[in-house]
Amino acid sequence: MATMIIEGERVEAASGRTYEVHNPATGEVVDSVPDGGPEDVERAARAAAEAQKTWGRLSAGERRQILHRAAAHMLGKVDEIAEMLTKEQGKTILESRIEARRFGENIAWYGDLADKIHGDYVNLPDPQSFGLVLRRPIGVTGAIVPWNFPLTLAANKIAPSIAAGNCVVLKPASTTPLSTLRCVEALIEGGLPEGVVNVVLGHRAGEAIVTNPIIGKVALTGSTPTGKQVMAQAAPYLKKVTLELGGSDPCIVLDDANLEAAAKAISTGRFFNCGQACLAIKRLYVQEGVYDRLLELLVERARKLKPGNGLDPASRMGPMHSETQRAEVEAQVQDALERGARVVYGGGRPQGPEYERGWFLNPTILVDVPQDSRMLTEEVFGPALPVVRIKDLDQGLELANRSSFGLGSSIWTSSMRSAHRAVLELEAGYTWVNALQVAHDELPFGGTKESGFGKEHGIEAFLQYTEQKSVVYGLVD
Ligand code: NAD
Repeated sequence: MATMIIEGERVEAASGRTYEVHNPATGEVVDSVPDGGPEDVERAARAAAEAQKTWGRLSAGERRQILHRAAAHMLGKVDEIAEMLTKEQGKTILESRIEARRFGENIAWYGDLADKIHGDYVNLPDPQSFGLVLRRPIGVTGAIVPWNFPLTLAANKIAPSIAAGNCVVLKPASTTPLSTLRCVEALIEGGLPEGVVNVVLGHRAGEAIVTNPIIGKVALTGSTPTGKQVMAQAAPYLKKVTLELGGSDPCIVLDDANLEAAAKAISTGRFFNCGQACLAIKRLYVQEGVYDRLLELLVERARKLKPGNGLDPASRMGPMHSETQRAEVEAQVQDALERGARVVYGGGRPQGPEYERGWFLNPTILVDVPQDSRMLTEEVFGPALPVVRIKDLDQGLELANRSSFGLGSSIWTSSMRSAHRAVLELEAGYTWVNALQVAHDELPFGGTKESGFGKEHGIEAFLQYTEQKSVVYGLVD
């Protein structure tokens, strides 16, 4: 049985309760894990606070070196960790390797930043005094992570936090704890001091992190309803929150776009990770002149996405993560069909004995999807793409912005004028112009509207794990 990592020990839940983690491709039990709760979170928060007294006092250069060594050690275990990620999450082994590598790279990236951030020296009106602006760590921070990218989304929170001198209480999603435990274990083997990152598991642990007074900031990636609950739970403590929530990213393709490049990026943008990505092309708006041709190209690409067990190197798309998720996407597609949409590719579940025990779904492309259908008003967290015909950029922008979400967005055009207008007018935290929707370490990432607030990635995320303090020195003898 796997155990939690608290205070340098490998522990079971205080309650003694456990639950099983299942493989979404086969239904088999992968492992049992502790079902932790508030007592375990309290212990982890105290351990983090104790560890922070030492970790926060190291020089930034020492933290940089430790994080580099720990990341290098973890990166030596990518294959083993990736296999575990595929078993518990379902994604293909190729996707898991990319994700496991991103975990280590992210720790190293913020390690590099640890000794590059500095405060300010400020002249004050009285020449006998001067001011400083310091950046101090917050202390203990909480990280609550979903199941779709368990490792990258954990690293996005742990890396800037510990690089800035904080210690962390981390809670993976209940269904994907195992690869996260291995990543943290690998960091510790590589020299990260015990107690700097504590991992608590269990269905009740998330709320306990948000309401634990020792934890000064919580970063959540999850759905919009969960984000709203977390914000309300954090309010009585005036706790800082970063909320990376749901999205329904629009993509606009104009007549003057490079269609081959657009089709490739849209296909990856929609079907990567079996469509279970926050940053995913979830609504496609195509100008009339290229509508038919782009559809052909997208269908050609979807044909190549053979669903299968992620451990089989021939699989191009794993199963969905859970039965509930699959049922949700099926219901959204059904709703669109009942309102007059048509399937131009896919639909339904793949058939055959190898698919019987997993949550498989075919990649699906729909047209004539009405504006009020669930596929265009809700987040579609699975491999189904609604395609909408538009007259021009005006209509594309109007429809793209007709959403409560504001996470990512993209446009394909060869006109600088059209591209720049979209950059200015699309209501989203990120706009890609003629580029694949990938979140870069270097750029701040985060949503607007009901996709949340606060940033991950970039220097901005590091700064959000610090607090500014103004200091005045008077020159008296
Ligand atoms: P979820 O909201 O159900 O759960 C996310 C995490 O929050 C889990 O660890 C869960 O246990 C925990 N949680 C749930 N309720 C809680 C509460 N009241 N207090 C504290 N913790 C709580 O999300 P999910 O189904 O695991 O993930 C899919 C969702 O995440 C989608 O909406 C997706 O768009 C979103 N997501 C967003 C981003 C982003 O960066 N914006 C990235 C990936 C996924």
